[in-house]
Amino acid sequence: AQPCYNEEQLQKTILVGDSGVGKTSLLVQFDQGKFIPGSFSATVGIGFTNKVVTVDGVKVKLQIWDTAGQERFRSVTHAYYRDAEALLLLYDITNRASFDNIRAWLTEIGEYAQKDVVIMLLGNKCDMNHERAVRSEEGENLAKEYGVPFMETSAKTGMNVDVAFLAAAKELKQRA
Ligand code: GDP
Ligand code: MG
Repeated sequence: AQPCYNEEQLQKTILVGDSGVGKTSLLVQFDQGKFIPGSFSATVGIGFTNKVVTVDGVKVKLQIWDTAGQERFRSVTHAYYRDAEALLLLYDITNRASFDNIRAWLTEIGEYAQKDVVIMLLGNKCDMNHERAVRSEEGENLAKEYGVPFMETSAKTGMNVDVAFLAAAKELKQRA
């Protein structure tokens, strides 16, 4: 039988990862198709953007939440994760520490998020290959270990940005 997917329902999608990895930039690129250079204030980014994407002719309404990394130390954490259907977990390929912290993020996700949350691991800033501190295979291997899809993205060039959100939407639709 055809699975019945509710097109009207907003799918809460959250952006997670260390401060500076490019969460806000990724959302701006996806939403507006542009890159605004320079750091966004850490306090900017609490809020959401609604975007409709079409997967196999079916509309998926994403409500994408962006937050500053610092939130994880506050009580807002639980609420932020609680009703998330999908989660884009980012590190910065030029920042080793942001990659090393991914395991801690996954632990936190396991603690707070729903068990069936859709997770995508994204190695952002792939336009900065000359300053790369994390090999692609390392990202791939970590993703494999946790059984989640992985891709490298660039909020600057737009590389794989639509692809990443579309892949999340596809997962959401399939599991509905
Ligand atoms: P957030 O703290 O995770 O929200 O990160 P921001 O979106 O504020 O980005 C932090 C810094 O990295 C800013 O200076 C951005 O312009 C820069 N940045 C974000 N994404 C990319 C990217 O894909 N490529 C490059 N070269 N810079 C990026
Ligand atoms: Mg931000």
